Amino acid sequence: MVVPRLIERKRDGGTLTGDEWHALVAAYARNEVPDYQMAAMAMAVFFRGLDPAELSALTDAMLASGDRLRFDGETRPRIDKHSTGGVGDKTSLLLAPMLAACGVLVPMMSGRGLGHTGGTLDKLEAIPGFTTGLSLRATEAQVRSLGAAMIGQTAEIAPADGKLYALRDVTATVESIPLISASIMSKKLAEGLNGLVLDVKIGSGAFLPEPERALALATTMIGLGDARRCPTVALITAMDRPLGVACGNALEVAEAIAGLRGDGPDDLMELTYALGSEMLLLAGLDADRVSAQRRLAETVRSGSALALLGRMVSAQGGDAAVIEQPERLPQAPIRRDVLAADSGVITRVEPRALGRAIIELGGGRRVASDRVLPDVGLEVPAKPGQRVGKGDRLAVVHARSVEAADNAVTAVHDAISIGGAAVDVLPLIAWRVTTAGATAYGGVS
Ligand code: URA
Repeated sequence: MVVPRLIERKRDGGTLTGDEWHALVAAYARNEVPDYQMAAMAMAVFFRGLDPAELSALTDAMLASGDRLRFDGETRPRIDKHSTGGVGDKTSLLLAPMLAACGVLVPMMSGRGLGHTGGTLDKLEAIPGFTTGLSLRATEAQVRSLGAAMIGQTAEIAPADGKLYALRDVTATVESIPLISASIMSKKLAEGLNGLVLDVKIGSGAFLPEPERALALATTMIGLGDARRCPTVALITAMDRPLGVACGNALEVAEAIAGLRGDGPDDLMELTYALGSEMLLLAGLDADRVSAQRRLAETVRSGSALALLGRMVSAQGGDAAVIEQPERLPQAPIRRDVLAADSGVITRVEPRALGRAIIELGGGRRVASDRVLPDVGLEVPAKPGQRVGKGDRLAVVHARSVEAADNAVTAVHDAISIGGAAVDVLPLIAWRVTTAGATAYGGVS
């Protein structure tokens, strides 16, 4: 294999064979191909794309670079969900225990905060003692015994993707649909699933804001999953405003606990039930969304989902008392209200700017090595379309210092606009995408 010739061919619009992709990825994982050559290849793919056979080969090669979860002899369905990320998106924290309480196994592998978006692992680690670094064998055992485990990507899972993703992050080659699809699906397929639900965000706070690109990403990932006996369904959902109220690590854990008590914000609960229903349909436990939603609602009403979260927190070394006493979660010392400067209709609650404000507070990372503060963040009850009076509370800043709080108050004012007229907002759930194509999402009827 002469790597410069492969890069040259891709650069000039040609294709690599499956064997060439496998050899290249395997050699890269063994540190036999230097980062500068792989970066050049990633840039060539960014501009030239991959044909379906190349995309399959790259995904399979990254999957084959590591180990996978094994559930031999297990007859219960194994389903996960993946979100392309956003601000205030804590649905994973609700879905893993809700689905496990329904009898579905949820081996959930999540990521850390990326850019302006939060990450499930950072949120979980806001629970004192909680560890997300389980080995694959320990994960399998916990999933079999409790029904769910929430872990991070380890060196054992798709290590070629781990290396390539870090490289793409610093070489402006993240936003490529084939590279994103291969990256996400190689990790998800390593979980040994028999179904996957994707939450692909659109809007200004999304990773790929334009609906056309989000639909293309969803369709590409669905094709990869389906061809590998992992039926995959996507919902295309709004990230032109934060999801729920809490934005920031411990604050989001507290909101998820409230949701599992039946006291979550409407938009968060609606999306959680919609995604959870798709997971139950894939699991074959329900035949329609009405009965799926009823089953999920029962896990909240009975307290079984909350109890399951408590068992999972204990099993992963965390302080399960936070379930009954969320005030045990880390609390920032300074709280500051952000009040409306005018009366009118809220026309914009910009998630990207709010996500950046959280990073400035210390709740996210500027560089991968940054330590994330668990306690800081924002509560943002303000929603586009809502009428407010001058002096009404738009948000609460949770900060570690007066200076950080002052800066965040200014940033939140900049992120929220108040005008005189109603506004266009994206529907919370715009489309449902399957192998049959995309249809407008009708909700439960
Ligand atoms: N998340 C991933 O895991 N990979 C990507 O390429 C982008 C987002």
